[in-house]
Amino acid sequence: MKASVDKQMCIGCELCPGVCPEVFAMGDDGLAYAIVETVPADALDGAKEAAESCPVDAIRLG
Ligand code: SF4
Repeated sequence: MKASVDKQMCIGCELCPGVCPEVFAMGDDGLAYAIVETVPADALDGAKEAAESCPVDAIRLG
């Protein structure tokens, strides 16, 4: 499964790196980005939780 963040939508709430730091981090622009292209198997649950918790639905998994 791949992960990405739509920076047009992200509001920089910092939730996703808190929920799943294996996959997401905050960039210098104050917006989140995926630090890996493919989600590690042991981070799948965290990545899904982050995607479901994002207040603006900016995280794409697939
Ligand atoms: S949870 Fe959503 S809005 Fe918040 S930093 Fe992550 S991608 Fe951006």
